[in-house]
Amino acid sequence: MSKFVFLTGGVVSSVGKGVTAAAIGKLLKERGIKVAIQKLDPYINVDPGTMNPYQHGEVFVLDDGSETDLDLGHYERFIDDSLSADCNVTTGQIYSAVIAEERKGSFLGGTIQVVPHITSEIKRRINLVPEKTGAEVVIVEVGGTVGDIESLPFLEALRQMRYERGRENTLYVHVTWLPHISATGELKTKPTQHSVRELRSIGLNPDVIIARSDHPVAEDLIAKIALFCDVEPKGVFPVVTTPNLYEVPLLLERQELGSYLAEKLHLKLRRKPNWKPWQAMVHAERADRPKVCISLVGKYVELQDAYMSVREAVRHAALVEGVKAEILWVQSGDLEKGSAWSDLQRTHGMIVPGGFGDRGIEGMIEAAGFARRKKIPYLGLCLGMQVLVIEFARHVLDLDAANSTEFDPDTAHPVIDLLPEQRQIGELGGTMRLGLYPCKIGSGTLAARAYKRESVDERHRHRYEFNNAYRQAFEEHGMCFSGQSPDGKLVEIAELTDHDFMLGSQFHPEFLSRPNRPHPLFVAFIKAVIRRAKTPGNNAAASSASTS
Ligand code: GLN
Repeated sequence: MSKFVFLTGGVVSSVGKGVTAAAIGKLLKERGIKVAIQKLDPYINVDPGTMNPYQHGEVFVLDDGSETDLDLGHYERFIDDSLSADCNVTTGQIYSAVIAEERKGSFLGGTIQVVPHITSEIKRRINLVPEKTGAEVVIVEVGGTVGDIESLPFLEALRQMRYERGRENTLYVHVTWLPHISATGELKTKPTQHSVRELRSIGLNPDVIIARSDHPVAEDLIAKIALFCDVEPKGVFPVVTTPNLYEVPLLLERQELGSYLAEKLHLKLRRKPNWKPWQAMVHAERADRPKVCISLVGKYVELQDAYMSVREAVRHAALVEGVKAEILWVQSGDLEKGSAWSDLQRTHGMIVPGGFGDRGIEGMIEAAGFARRKKIPYLGLCLGMQVLVIEFARHVLDLDAANSTEFDPDTAHPVIDLLPEQRQIGELGGTMRLGLYPCKIGSGTLAARAYKRESVDERHRHRYEFNNAYRQAFEEHGMCFSGQSPDGKLVEIAELTDHDFMLGSQFHPEFLSRPNRPHPLFVAFIKAVIRRAKTPGNNAAASSASTS
């Protein structure tokens, strides 16, 4: 029988519940246990696919094409397994399924209610994960904070699961925040006490409390949390904020959370954890390394979570190449107004990431032109490839009006356009080209040197494609389509032949980068960035630029 670790959050959001869930997954996987991690999101959208990134951060795409919460990115990066659509469930999905059954007549005669109909559907979705994956332990994270109206049915479902499966098969972990009062220099446990009281009023008694804090937590505070929250002292685990999220599993391992979970859930451990590779990665990240600076030109840069996987992919590749990559976040709209160009000039590489809609596009196109002319290494991710193509069409092929029909439906030169099958689609949710597709790599190209493979599978999330009517003209002027769909009909990678590294992919390589296994395109890009930084005249770095 599978076992479940249920994670709830208290006090405030954004305390790192997703990273904690991922870290717990890593602790168990290191002990040879097959794990899966699921996120239950209480919002009513069916998935985050149609949400503005400012609201929700990045949409993380899985192999099977599901558009999911960014926490699934943390899960995959920590446990290094590919998850599936079942691992992200929303209130929207639950209600849609129950209402569809009601319309079919499945509940004839009955009144459909939150308990039992909605809670049963929630439990069914939770149980699907071990059924489909064979996971011995499923870690289930409930989005939001205890006290939110939206999450009540999910919490009630978790309560019922303990009743049905017993204590030895279910464990409740509550992640809270200890605020620091600077006037007295104290950490406070009261909000945690209140949050646990709220949780208990719903019928959930936490077994473990992860107390997040910006400051070290003294033993007496741990004892206090234990006493007031009715958790044994060894069930309270303080986690002090660390600049490196990959340190969290090590922090928890040092406090023996892995053994504690194994004991409480009566898990049969298959092996002793081997933390050496993970530790080496964390130590390398801490070590002093030469700095390189990369500008990320996007439209949602005020919220860096919107580019979570891109930031992580840069970090993974930089680590392997022995440098520290600072990212300069450039709002493409500022470039349109004429500012931020001097900062761009000082960076050693440029990334134009994914995005939708026409705001800021002209700034990105100008930035791509800047990278092309100044020979700054450029990596275009999905929209970033389309931007590279539009800029090339306008300024190398002299097609002044070139554009994507996403931004100008009547453009005279639709170098990026909808495929005929996309034209028929009216609904926006879940209708893009989504998920893993194969890509053939052309020999002798930049892409081939990066991948060292003839064929790869990459994750997609886009509606528009390169327009093949322009293929020959582009090729004649120095663009190489180094990645294509196996039937040759879709352009997957475009690169310039007379540039050290100017490459764009129609897919999102960032979703497959892992801390110990950086993505080959990001590695090749960072290598080019390092070459650029070492070139005399370009090594000033962007020290005066605002970086993070
Ligand atoms: N908006 C573009 C498209 O739909 C690019 C999408 C993206 O960058 N993910 O094709």
